Amino acid sequence: MTDVGDALAGAEEAELRRRRELRADSDEHGREDSVVSPLADSEEGAIEGALRPKRLDDFVGQHRVREQLTLLLHSALRRGRPPDHVLLSGPPGLGKTTIAMIIAAELGAPLRPTSGPAIERSGDLAAVLSTLQEGEVLFIDEIHRLARPAEEMLYLAMEDFRVDIVVGKGPGATAIPLDIAPFTLVGATTRAGLLPAPLRDRFGFTGHLDFYQPAELGIIVRRSAGLLGVRIEDGAIEELSLRSRGTPRIANRLLRRVRDYAEVRADGLVTRELTRTALELYEVDELGLDRLDRAVLDALIRRFGGGPVGLSTLAVAVAEEAETVEVVAEPFLVRHGLLARTPRGRVATPAGWAHLGLTPPPSADLPTLFD
Ligand code: ADP
Repeated sequence: MTDVGDALAGAEEAELRRRRELRADSDEHGREDSVVSPLADSEEGAIEGALRPKRLDDFVGQHRVREQLTLLLHSALRRGRPPDHVLLSGPPGLGKTTIAMIIAAELGAPLRPTSGPAIERSGDLAAVLSTLQEGEVLFIDEIHRLARPAEEMLYLAMEDFRVDIVVGKGPGATAIPLDIAPFTLVGATTRAGLLPAPLRDRFGFTGHLDFYQPAELGIIVRRSAGLLGVRIEDGAIEELSLRSRGTPRIANRLLRRVRDYAEVRADGLVTRELTRTALELYEVDELGLDRLDRAVLDALIRRFGGGPVGLSTLAVAVAEEAETVEVVAEPFLVRHGLLARTPRGRVATPAGWAHLGLTPPPSADLPTLFD
């Protein structure tokens, strides 16, 4: 192999290594085993498919994004041209894949789904791009995990509907331009910050999805219960919406768990009382905290008097990796105002104490305005 060939092979190797590392540190640190994981587990695909709203009108919440998308799609339809490329960002389980499917349905176009990790080399992407039909919607999930050479190929494809197929290696390599059919790219990412600016800039439309309000989750749970033929009382819907961490995927999963419980332990009717009992069994509390979240809060308050305590000490106390505590449990506790990260360490807030049914002692080191 020539020196250039060696360098190219080395670069490719480095790229694969970078992607392996990214993969290892992504996926929100394997909370798959928890019933409140925002990630889909391997058996959830089919059932999620059945519960997905098919049109924008059925899509609950995210009003701003929905309204903007409606305008984008309608004007594209009117002009008879594919709309701008769409980037959707936001935490897992909030509806990015669902929106990609809705975009294709609203445009009456086929959808080609793939994901960043599935595209190992630029050749994989070239194969997808060169077989797109006119107007097709290409959905790339986890687009921040696309390999760099593929990313660069995508720039040209998005801008000029063209790919350069590189033939040969080293100094003799030539790029053969290939026209591709005009298409719409829908990219989804849980980490918009990791997207390189040149890629981000090529999306004409960016929508950020936020956590849902309990009332919106209530509508989603009611709709899902209807589709699944679950008899459920209003009180149970309310209870489920409050415990679903603002995430439709979790709401739908908890609904299925309480349905199972109602079928096996009762007559199938899901009541508020039954929901509470079932979720206690699954260790999901009134705010949607699971075993790990509670363990962290509990250790912080009961063992360390509410803090401040360092992350690694806290992690040892709950027998978890510091990273798991930091990435999996803390963001939710912080978002709910139960825990604060201060320069001196982790501190329980008054709401954190209250959540465990305790009152902070007057001497407690509560976070202040200046932390
Ligand atoms: P993401 O791609 O962001 O991880 P998905 O689109 O796969 O999330 O959504 C996960 C599940 O939640 C799907 O089963 C979908 O039916 C449901 N869901 C998400 N958003 C909504 C919504 N706005 N209305 C109704 N159901 C939703």
